[in-house]
Amino acid sequence: MTDPDPVPLSRLTTLRVGGVPVRMALPATEQELVDAALAAWASGDDWMLLGGGSNTVASDEGFDGTVIRVITRGIEVTPPAAGQDRVRLRVQAGEPWDDVVAHAVAQGWAGIEALSGIPGSTGAAPVQNIGAYGQELDSSLVAIDFLDYETGARRRLEAAELELGYRTSALKQGLRGIVLAVELDLHDTTAEASVLGSALSAPVAYGQLAGALGVQLGDRVSLATLRDTVLALRASKGMVLDESDHDTWSAGSFFTNPIVTEAFGRTLPGDAPRWPIGPPDELPDRVIPLTDYAGVGPIPGAGATVRLVKLSAAWLIEHAGISRGFRLPGSRAAVSSKHTLALTNTGGATADEIAQLARYVQGRVQAEFGVILQPEPVLVGLHL
Ligand SMILES: Cc1cc2nc3c(=O)[nH]c(=O)nc-3n(C[C@H](O)[C@H](O)[C@H](O)COP(=O)(O)OP(=O)(O)OC[C@H]3O[C@@H](n4cnc5c(N)ncnc54)[C@H](O)[C@@H]3O)c2cc1C
Repeated sequence: MTDPDPVPLSRLTTLRVGGVPVRMALPATEQELVDAALAAWASGDDWMLLGGGSNTVASDEGFDGTVIRVITRGIEVTPPAAGQDRVRLRVQAGEPWDDVVAHAVAQGWAGIEALSGIPGSTGAAPVQNIGAYGQELDSSLVAIDFLDYETGARRRLEAAELELGYRTSALKQGLRGIVLAVELDLHDTTAEASVLGSALSAPVAYGQLAGALGVQLGDRVSLATLRDTVLALRASKGMVLDESDHDTWSAGSFFTNPIVTEAFGRTLPGDAPRWPIGPPDELPDRVIPLTDYAGVGPIPGAGATVRLVKLSAAWLIEHAGISRGFRLPGSRAAVSSKHTLALTNTGGATADEIAQLARYVQGRVQAEFGVILQPEPVLVGLHL
């Protein structure tokens, strides 16, 4: 269960950077995972979790403690009760997320098909509430089984307790512990399919996806077609892992789309994309304390009711003069040649080179637009 000869984190992360950790545990069952965690916590040493390593940027110094690599597997299915069309899945944390999606699509279970092709483990999926093409995990997540670092006890946490939001959750914001298993609730379309002739997806909720499918927003298409279309769209942006394609040697999007006040958004050029948070007719008026504001400068109307908009980080980067394929002189880190939001390793890059590029991109965007881009991946031993 403990690896006597830990490999460098560069071999276990999709960005392929990171030095050798002091210790590595490889628990393969849920009980072994609990035991490994309790042992690491009892030792008083530092510890960290690693699933598929697709959202982790580790420093060149490695990690001065125990890396617990989560490789548990298994999906338990609770079929719908008579006359019902909801199916429950309890998925072990180490199960690769895209295998879960592929299985659901093959079985005719709708709700996570737009999340096809997202790399990594199921246990990490709630950490940043993974999302893509109009779906987010929180629409299907019921609960997690959690091993709490504070108490050492197992407990079930309902989705509502996890403060899931855009690329964030309580787990990303400081709730320490281990997701042992994830419970999902999906729409079993098999009865419907026997009438309609094919298993249909959840309503399409993303303009670009609707365009690629040749349908309207809100339409439903065959689950298999939706998955194939999402995978093709993702591949065209270097967002499906491919050993031979250096554009996919990344951590996915390196920066989140900034959320700013509508008033601040109006200071940007008129063609800068901005989306109200939530559907326009349900757009909430929210009061945000100044300290929660991720942008820069005082919030106009802070303390009063303010409306928020989401900006496009990719647009900000491109319009700050950084184009696809950009790299600093002599560096092996580069902006993806397919997608400005991904920072990539062109081969042999160090974590320092990735961090330098990230700081440069942040600096250019801040100088041009006054917005500080926030990193999406988890940084281990690194600061921007
Ligand atoms: C090419 C590419 C495309 C991507 N596209 C998307 C996308 O479209 N949408 C999206 O949301 N993300 C995307 N990502 C980011 C990434 O795939 C997701 O965040 C994924 O959920 C990370 O899973 P992982 O197992 O690889 O996490 P890791 O990198 O191993 O870990 C990430 C964080 O989760 C913690 N963690 C891991 N396992 C557990 C556990 N069992 N319990 C508690 N904490 C845990 C780790 O400690 C770490 O803090 C992409 C990444 C890549 C490389």
